[in-house]
Amino acid sequence: MLNRRYFLKHSAMLGAAASLSPVSALWGKSENPDSIPPVHKNGDTYTVNMGHIQAASSPARQINIPDVEGFKVLKGDFHIHTLFSDGQVMPKDRVLEAVNNGLDVISITDHIEYRPNISKDGRWKLAAEQADDFNIWYEAARSDAEKKELLLIRGAEITKRSMPPGHLNVLFASDNNPITAAADDWKTMVQVAADQGAFILWNHPGWEAPASGGIKQGAPLFFPEVHKEMVRKGLLHGIEIFNYNEYYPVVSDWCNEQNLAVFANSDIHDSELATYGIQNPLRPLTLVLARERSLEGVREALFARRTVGWAAGMIWGREPWLPALFKSAVEIKAITPGTIELNNKSSLPVTAGVGGAIFELPQNARRQVYRAEGVKSLTVANWMTSMNKPLEIQLPAEITDAK
Ligand SMILES: [Zn+2]
Ligand SMILES: [Zn+2]
Repeated sequence: MLNRRYFLKHSAMLGAAASLSPVSALWGKSENPDSIPPVHKNGDTYTVNMGHIQAASSPARQINIPDVEGFKVLKGDFHIHTLFSDGQVMPKDRVLEAVNNGLDVISITDHIEYRPNISKDGRWKLAAEQADDFNIWYEAARSDAEKKELLLIRGAEITKRSMPPGHLNVLFASDNNPITAAADDWKTMVQVAADQGAFILWNHPGWEAPASGGIKQGAPLFFPEVHKEMVRKGLLHGIEIFNYNEYYPVVSDWCNEQNLAVFANSDIHDSELATYGIQNPLRPLTLVLARERSLEGVREALFARRTVGWAAGMIWGREPWLPALFKSAVEIKAITPGTIELNNKSSLPVTAGVGGAIFELPQNARRQVYRAEGVKSLTVANWMTSMNKPLEIQLPAEITDAK
């Protein structure tokens, strides 16, 4: 609905067009200044392009990653908050943000033990049966996710005040309420979740680091006994190497040593716009190599540890999936015996070197580089397979054997 002030302001801005009917100038109904101004009747409605409406319907960000050995590469974020714990937006808005950012799968993982917005003194009150329902953030987003064809995983964050165990995300539980019912004892919570077939993920392992014994000064140094025991009992399956804007390099090694799936998650609380700017390629993502684009496809892939983290221009993953991902994303061919061409067919960032200077290979771009004699491999400096080991790719024999 247009008000009179808007009308006058825009007519004035049109300057020379002031002699035109404001109506025809604004809505482009007529190019002819001599045309007779339309007659308005009560109940007339006009649809006006207001700019932001167009922006909201702009195409979603395209993240293009070719399949890897028959697996689809799904883009996910497995750590997200909403108003139902300490986040700032509704669950359905998380769906729109994710779709707009080109994601395939998310889990809303509101805190079980910390819900300031809807607690006794919180800003909002829920009806009793809703206040006691810890599936509510999942249910509230479900139909929107279905409409938008976004995969939505039931999730929750076990939020203990001290380390260990710190914070643990529970994905794919069948019901969060029995987990919540055991909130006095985190070990029981984890066991109840695991009995439901849940995937359990250790969040931001640098959090509360100084108080954790063994983890000092904000940076984890070694893998705590408590978490080792969880791994031994099959109660811990993944870990964040990147959370929001924090990077924990040692987690690369822990994934290999403890057989954990690697995750890079946003842990977003505020809106995506306020946090990253819309469609920001720096929003952390976890890539999932899945047999199919379905919830079951994601579940199977997580338990099989086929994940890759991507944040801040870096990529982290385990063998054999990281090299496999690189090979399907970047084509390497010989131009002359001393020159090779790299073709990045993906949206993934690549910083590499072939025995010489490091260079950038932007997404969806080709680049020819010099290969010094005798150099048989390509070093991908921003793709890490362990803490201090960038990905090494053997150059094809037709290149290294060429005379
Ligand atoms: Zn947390
Ligand atoms: Zn969190």
